[in-house]
Amino acid sequence: MRFRFQGILFSCIFALITGCNSTAPKVVENAAPGALACSVGDQAAGRVIQVEVWRGRDDSLSAYGVGQVCQRLQDVSRQLLTQGVNLRFEVLGSVQIHTGLGRANNNLMQSIQASEGQLKLVIVDAIAQCGDAAGYILGCTPQLGRPVFYVKRHDSCNDRAPEWVIWAHEMGHAAALYHPDAPGLATVPERIMTYMPMPQSSVLVTYESANFAQLGSIVNMPRMHAATGMLPFSAARINAEQLLPLVQEAGPHGVSLGQLAHLDDAALLSLAPLLEPEPTVVNAASTRPSVPVQTNALVLLAELGKGEAQAYVRQYLRRQIGSETLNIRLYGLQALGRGQQRHPTEESLTFLAQAIEEGFWCVGAQQPAQACAALAEAARDALRDAQTKP
Ligand SMILES: [Zn+2]
Repeated sequence: MRFRFQGILFSCIFALITGCNSTAPKVVENAAPGALACSVGDQAAGRVIQVEVWRGRDDSLSAYGVGQVCQRLQDVSRQLLTQGVNLRFEVLGSVQIHTGLGRANNNLMQSIQASEGQLKLVIVDAIAQCGDAAGYILGCTPQLGRPVFYVKRHDSCNDRAPEWVIWAHEMGHAAALYHPDAPGLATVPERIMTYMPMPQSSVLVTYESANFAQLGSIVNMPRMHAATGMLPFSAARINAEQLLPLVQEAGPHGVSLGQLAHLDDAALLSLAPLLEPEPTVVNAASTRPSVPVQTNALVLLAELGKGEAQAYVRQYLRRQIGSETLNIRLYGLQALGRGQQRHPTEESLTFLAQAIEEGFWCVGAQQPAQACAALAEAARDALRDAQTKP
């Protein structure tokens, strides 16, 4: 236990130190709406991209002022320069707030439309869904070749790839690039466009670099794909034995539901050990599954499960307390709502109807009031989704 926490602490501190290795760009903090807040990248760059920045929820995303955004885009431009892409980003003031987008899903992501000649960057607390995928998702470009992309706020303790990699990866999708790999196929972890971005994912191949020349424009393509249905081939169905390893290795794109929708409760419940408070296998190498892995497991149980799996999820949501699992429960709760569109159950609908009250979460447990409020709010989203026709 102690070693585990030390390990987490160390990696967070390490991320903080390594996150500050470039000089700060010049930023106009209070630029008027539409006025230039910063210009980063090569001043002589052939391509200048205007960037409009949005974020959800003012309270939880306070780190993302225009200065932070300029810094990160400077990282992106410097790294892409080594890959033959010479861009300058002109960030327009001020950061716009769209509170409805705190936790983004497919429906909500339709509320910001692409416009020609401008890249729109939207920073949110969580991305619950992206096309066919659900779970722990770091970035989403709702439509390939459209200059609008979403990124989850960076969490240096849980998100392995540096933030610039995720931003550059989504820009690649916005410039109409596919993933070159997929679960179950040979992966190419060194490439920015891998489906599983890692710290070392910094390479663009020639045709990819060329696509960045179109970043910021609407790229018309013969076929459009939702972001994770964007594989040029369809993902193979996963059988019950393959499920646990798949979830344990799932990357920052969440889990594709299409290949799992046929699984029954018994198969889905094989994921439950990932969610138990203590490691189920005790040996030197075992650690508790990461937050992304636990999140993906709970979301699959909630979104694809029938009676038994949903009962497990409801019990998990109420049993776990404390801030450590709060974020996982928020994902799970929303997935339980979406899951009612596939497999509605009386018990879950009743549960969600009760869960919209803060008192439901606070009674008898030492939950901080803020956690109860967040859970009640997620339950309201979930109940709305449960009552929506898919
Ligand atoms: Zn991707």
